[in-house]
Amino acid sequence: MSNTGMASQAEQLYMDAFVWDAHAGVFPDSAIDLKLLNSWRDKGVNYLSINVGFDVMDWQKTLKTLAAYRRWLLAREQCFVLVSTIQDVVRAKREDKLAVTFDIEGMNALNGDINMLSVYHALGVRQMLFAYNLNNEAAGGCHDTDMGLTEFGRSIVREMNRLGIIVDCSHASLQTTLDIMAESTKPVVFSHSNPRAVWEHQRNILDQQIKACAQTGGVIGINGMGIFLGDNDVRTKTLLKHICYVSELVGTEHVGFGFDYTPDVEVDIGDILRSRPDYWPQGQAYDTPKINHAGPSQLPELVQGLMDYGFEDDEIRGFLGENFKRVATLTWTSS
Ligand SMILES: [Zn+2]
Repeated sequence: MSNTGMASQAEQLYMDAFVWDAHAGVFPDSAIDLKLLNSWRDKGVNYLSINVGFDVMDWQKTLKTLAAYRRWLLAREQCFVLVSTIQDVVRAKREDKLAVTFDIEGMNALNGDINMLSVYHALGVRQMLFAYNLNNEAAGGCHDTDMGLTEFGRSIVREMNRLGIIVDCSHASLQTTLDIMAESTKPVVFSHSNPRAVWEHQRNILDQQIKACAQTGGVIGINGMGIFLGDNDVRTKTLLKHICYVSELVGTEHVGFGFDYTPDVEVDIGDILRSRPDYWPQGQAYDTPKINHAGPSQLPELVQGLMDYGFEDDEIRGFLGENFKRVATLTWTSS
């Protein structure tokens, strides 16, 4: 609200809009106190996908994290909704609660067994990535040799389509993402990846990938990490630059947000990160002493920037959440 007590047009649009953050960057650990989710809820976010595992840790730890997060959320139904269907997300907004689902970054969480997909689905996982930076038995990662999807990986795409889990290409290699998008019968997303034409980084994606994603009806979620936006640059005008680039390339209906944001956590995550430095290779700015992070608190200012730039209200509502909601509506029903 402005000083006069009257909301500006931008503030009003933001408050009324459906706000979707396709990926939180909170380190997955059963010891993390999820009260940090209030960092999203207090800022007017309606839906958040939070990761419960990634390729760097073993699958048992993913299950343990899932169990802890589920218990925490289910004990706080006055503030949070552990989502199963798109109707749950709509209800959460109406009741002023934060809707939450889970994602997993990389197929090591399956331990080689495709049957695990339906287990994760039953526990609330609604989005899965194929690799986390390095190659695994299903797919290629963006910081490894450019390997395509394996036969196991192809069967995973089909099973995710059948179950109703969003197919997510972030962190995967070029050939793997192209193979995934050719295989999937449902829209495919890059939940938290920025255009490489705006900032050169191996984690960012080429025009070819953005175009193929749009062709599936999918969405690219703009990532708020300073080293993927620019030279550790998280200014709102830099976010705007990434949004404008993707919009002009493939249309405004294919852009959303996956801020990859994390508030400070008290749990010591150093050991696991130090044990596998190969997941964050040298020369990719991961060793930047203090990586800045754009998060949901910048959204109201960003809405003003988008309006000033000349985007229509409907287009801005698309960026804020309607675009990702469209993908979830088409995907979360099993076939
Ligand atoms: Zn990630």
